[in-house]
Order: sequence, then C-alpha cells, then structure tokens
Amino acid sequence: MRRHVIVAFLAGAVLTFGVMVLIGAGGTVESPTGTAPDRYAYYPGTEDLDKDEIRLIACGTGLPAARRDQAATCFLAELGNGDKFLFDVGTGSMANVAALMIPYDFLDKVFLTHLHTDHWGDLATLWAGGWTAGRTKPLRIWGPTGQTPDMGTAYAIEHFLKAYNWDATTRNFVLSAEPGKISVTEFDYKAVNAVVYQENGVTIRSLPAIHAGDGPVSFILEYAGLKVVIGGDTFPNKWFIEYATNADLAIHETFLTPRDLVRLYGQSPRQAIVVGTMIHTSPQAFGKVMSTIKPRHAVGYHFFNEQSTHDDILRGVLQTYTGPLSLAVDNMVWNITKEKITERMIVSPDQAWAVNGPNKPPKPPARGSVPDPISDYIKAGRWKPAEEAQAPMVNEFKKKHELK
Ligand SMILES: [Zn+2]
Ligand SMILES: [Zn+2]
Repeated sequence: MRRHVIVAFLAGAVLTFGVMVLIGAGGTVESPTGTAPDRYAYYPGTEDLDKDEIRLIACGTGLPAARRDQAATCFLAELGNGDKFLFDVGTGSMANVAALMIPYDFLDKVFLTHLHTDHWGDLATLWAGGWTAGRTKPLRIWGPTGQTPDMGTAYAIEHFLKAYNWDATTRNFVLSAEPGKISVTEFDYKAVNAVVYQENGVTIRSLPAIHAGDGPVSFILEYAGLKVVIGGDTFPNKWFIEYATNADLAIHETFLTPRDLVRLYGQSPRQAIVVGTMIHTSPQAFGKVMSTIKPRHAVGYHFFNEQSTHDDILRGVLQTYTGPLSLAVDNMVWNITKEKITERMIVSPDQAWAVNGPNKPPKPPARGSVPDPISDYIKAGRWKPAEEAQAPMVNEFKKKHELK
C-alpha cells in the first residue's frame, strides 16, 4: 500500500518534551526515473484504507461568513469497511467534498450537530448537486430534536424540501425522483452517549452540547476499536469530558479569541466576550478540555486560520494543553490506526468532476407520468433561428446515440 506518512508534532509538545524526532515526509528518492516515496500530501483516490483504519478529512473548518480559503464546518469520515459519513455540511464545504471525487452514492449519510447554517448550509449543494451527478438513492440524515418540534431536524428537512419545491419539481420531470428524497432520523438531543446509529461494525453516539440554544450535539464514532469524537459547537461541557475521554482523535471547537472577534470580525467587546467564551470555546478552555480527556491527537477548528489568529489561538491553547494538536484548516486529513495517527494536507483539483459509482442510475420518469413544468405559453417563445442553428449538431448527436 502506498502510504505518505508524516507524524505531526505540536510546537508546544516540542517545547515541553525538549528534543523530539520530527519524522519528515520525503524519504529518499532512489532513481531519477522512479517515483518519490512519502510526501506531506494525500492525493484523493490513490490510497487503500486498511480494514481497521479511519481517514478523517476536514472539508470545512471556518465560520458562518464566507471565505474562499475556508468553508464552514464539515468533516468526512472514511472507514476501512467502506462506510463514509459526513458530519455537518456547512456553507461552502461541498466544493471541498467534491474535489475528493468520491461517487455521490458513497456520500448518502449525513450527521448534523445542529442547524446553524455554518453546519448544514451546503445540504442544498449535496442534495441537488449529488442528484444531478450520480447519486442513485435518497439522502439519509441524522440530527437532533429541539425543545419544540419546529426546532428539530425533521422540521428543518421537511421545510428545506418545501423551500426547494421548484428545484425538485423541475428536476422530477427529467430525473428519477428517488435521489431527491431525504429520510430523517431524529434523536433526542438530551440523550447522553446514546447510540444513534449502529450498523456494519460502526457505532455513532450523541452527546448534548451547550451552544446558543437547546438542540446541538456532539458525536462519537466508534469503529475497529478506534474512537473519534466530532465535537459540534459548544462551550466545554461535562458530557464531553466524561465520554470523549481517551479518544484516539478528538475534535472540539476552539473559537476566535475575544480580541480577534473585535479586531477582525467587527464585533463589539460585549458581543465578543459572550460569543467567544459562553456559546463557543476559548483557546484556554479548549486546552483544558484536551489536557483532561487526553486524546491521542487533538483537533481544534471553527476559526479563520491565518498567521495572527493561529498564533493567538495556539498561545491560548498552550497555557492549558501541550499534547499532540492540529489547528485545522480545510483539506487537512488524518489517518488513524491503533499504531499511529498521521496528519497531511490534501492535494486535489480545483476542477474536479463527479465520478459515477457502481450502481446503475435509476430510470427517468416515463413520458407523461410527471406534469411538464414548462407551459405551452413559454414553449411558444422558443426562437426559431436558434433551433435551426443547432439542428445539424442535434441531428448528428441523436443519430449517433440512436435517439428519437
Ligand atoms: Zn452554531
Ligand atoms: Zn458553528
């Protein structure tokens, strides 16, 4: 198996433990005509997973406001048994997911931590984009209830489909309606360490989170004796401390510092201190969580990660935690096994196309079975010279493909 390995060490760990051997990528190039061995990069679609391995990809690590460099929250877990799970599909994240060129049929399971747009805003893109680009079956979504039915995931998805009624109705005329359906499994947001999914050797549990309103949760994924914790938006909470303990990889938000919320995000000091230390997690609090639960590897995310914010957050984290750490950016990838955890960056194309999976596409609806969404009045406006201009190309194409 081709494997590009770099073990990432935190600067703080180096400070704490003194001299550490940094295992760099690169290895040795043995021949001018041969291939190079290990690199810091992961090239999607080029690496088998071991049966007992998890590959976790950050497809969004940013904030509600858009930034080309960082989409909003989305983590993709790929398991050695072939299962893939999306945890949140925040605004803008599907461009990163699409660049992995994974057939959409393998991206049908979505777990939502909560219903802020920076955690599910790109569901529209996964739903409609996947429908037009090879998904053959409905999407499946798991998400929490709310204090009242209208604050829960089932309500959100029901009304999501209503909001996109025009989109679905017009697609249903030419495409099978099946991939445009969404099934929802709603679970109690208050349940602690409750199993919300268990199939094929995979268990996913949920924990309550403390963030902006009742409903948000964090997830724990268990597979092959490995435990990966995907923390949603939350102030540090007792449930996370109790059940995320000894995770192999623990993801928890670490938000912009109040100073940076004022300096860079335009918030008032009052708003910044509430947002940064009450409904989100400050770097010092993140570090305290990690030094308490002691994961093999900690991941902080949910801030625009650039030199000055990175340094501010790292300084804060190091006051309370000096273990292995990634401060995540988009397209960071971790491979997790019993033996080691590696961190690399993804190298993927900006102009990726969808790749079909093994399933046959479902048949489009029989002619006449779905009402035509274009009226005769609008059809009568088709401009004849354009019909004539394209006629030779159309006829040639139809002949080649034996279309009537
Ligand atoms: Zn949120
Ligand atoms: Zn958020």
